[in-house]
Amino acid sequence: MARPVDTPELARKREREAQMVSQMIALWCRGHHGGGHVVEQAGDDESVRVKLGLRTITLCPECAELQKYAIARIEHCPHMGTKTFCSACPSHCYRPAMREKIREVMRWSGPRMIRYRPITAVRHAIITVQAKRAAASDK
Ligand SMILES: [Zn+2]
Repeated sequence: MARPVDTPELARKREREAQMVSQMIALWCRGHHGGGHVVEQAGDDESVRVKLGLRTITLCPECAELQKYAIARIEHCPHMGTKTFCSACPSHCYRPAMREKIREVMRWSGPRMIRYRPITAVRHAIITVQAKRAAASDK
């Protein structure tokens, strides 16, 4: 399923969303998988690093896999031009197991993102509520 080439604006939006989801996973990883992830090791380019504020977090293998998966979904998303965030998207492109995992991560990291990206986090919360309301009134 090929998608049309992004306009520069769309490419930026995709990039921002990818960064946001990476940071949420990084927060989750730091909070749940030991917190020893804030290490910069020269040479281990296998690991996935995410910049969070002034720190760099190295994701554990489990979170690195989730991040890779989420980025791939964003990369291939055909709705990027019209939708706002994945949480408000009508088409569920995540595999059920991955979807459960990312939802858990977002539920936990969402409120904590306010420290790092206040405007995006608040906008995200509002849009998610609106989408839920719209979905509920469709029924
Ligand atoms: Zn982790």
